[in-house]
Amino acid sequence: MNAEIIGVGSELLLGQIANTNAQYLSKKFAELGINVYYHTVVGDNESRLKEAILTAKKRADLIVFTGGLGPTKDDLTKETIASELGVSLVTDQQALESIEVYFEKTNRTMTPNNRKQAIVLEGATILPNDYGMAPGMGITVRGIHYMLFPGPPKELYPMYESYGQAYLAEKLDMKEQIESRVLRFFGIGESQLETDIEDLLDAQTNPTIAPLAADGEVTLRLTAKHGDVVEAHRMLDEVEKQIMSRVGEFFYGYDMTSLQAELIATMREQEVTVASAESLTGGLFSGTLTSIPGAGDVVKGSIVAYHTEVKHNVLHVAKETLEQDGAVSERCAEEMAVGVKKLTGSDVGISFTGVAGPSKQEGKEVGTVYIGIAFKNEKTRVYSLKLTGSRDGIRKRTVNYGIYYLLQ
Ligand code: ATP
Ligand code: MG
Repeated sequence: MNAEIIGVGSELLLGQIANTNAQYLSKKFAELGINVYYHTVVGDNESRLKEAILTAKKRADLIVFTGGLGPTKDDLTKETIASELGVSLVTDQQALESIEVYFEKTNRTMTPNNRKQAIVLEGATILPNDYGMAPGMGITVRGIHYMLFPGPPKELYPMYESYGQAYLAEKLDMKEQIESRVLRFFGIGESQLETDIEDLLDAQTNPTIAPLAADGEVTLRLTAKHGDVVEAHRMLDEVEKQIMSRVGEFFYGYDMTSLQAELIATMREQEVTVASAESLTGGLFSGTLTSIPGAGDVVKGSIVAYHTEVKHNVLHVAKETLEQDGAVSERCAEEMAVGVKKLTGSDVGISFTGVAGPSKQEGKEVGTVYIGIAFKNEKTRVYSLKLTGSRDGIRKRTVNYGIYYLLQ
């Protein structure tokens, strides 16, 4: 099976948006073993879209369209495909009803234009849109499979995952079930992790193991194919066990979780609160934690102590510390952590001080970072890091390390 993805929309050609839908679908198709040979982009123009369809028909047996299913005049994907394939357009009652429901739910008035979104290719399988109005479609005409998806990624992704993938699997008569699982690691570099599991990576066929690294985090996506789902899961369990026996100490969670989500969950369970004193991270730590629902039970507050005066006046970092060791120092990190813990009455105080760059500070190299953790009456721990990368990368990684240390 080879596929062509046609992105419809003048804004793609004008450079206003990137064709991330094609990127997303290509990745998904690769997982199913479908070869994508062409990405085509065409504007909201009937004759050029027709030409694109004609060309695609000659070289693909799965043609996937994204965009142009909306209610406005420039949305002409359905109409053009219908005329090109010689298929009629009909109103789908169910789609119409769900559009009406959608309008009721969002308290908006329906315009006649919106009815247009319930018009579908006759004989097509409808892919419901749980996050918008225009339904997607799948249809096979003269041996070629066509699929139509709406343009907005927040509609397309869930539509593909909930309905599109199953539709395709059936069309392709896939007897195999594809199951995947993501293992997340922190505190180990990508190359170290790959070295530790090198033989597994070399030997992988089914399940496959795909590493990916970002912001100090490494993930491994395991994908198993088998006719039986239970067996596919057993295969995943097996490789997971082998991987864990090598690098399990750096593992922190599965799939869509994140360090911050794990931390909030753990701290809530233990009924521990945290407050942060942030210099180089400028509030990024508390911003990251508060993005997680339920953070209110855990996060007490944060002091952005960017300037020395604030470190001294608000957090009560000693003058001598600042004069002798400087703001980027182990001692300053320690006093900041203790200071914010006292100020807020939290169980844990965490501090971040360091040089995010681009230039040196107090004679200290870019990437020099200290993270202090004051916990109840225990001795305050200070971690020192030497990070590399851009200013933003250093700040993000500093936050990730802080969360990671708190999880220890
Ligand atoms: P709507 O009902 O919202 O009009 P539509 O199916 O008609 O949906 P378009 O009008 O073509 O889709 O695009 C709507 C929006 O979806 C675009 O403004 C853009 O933000 C996003 N979008 C469209 N095509 C792509 C693409 N190929 N990659 C990423 N985003 C896209
Ligand atoms: Mg549109």
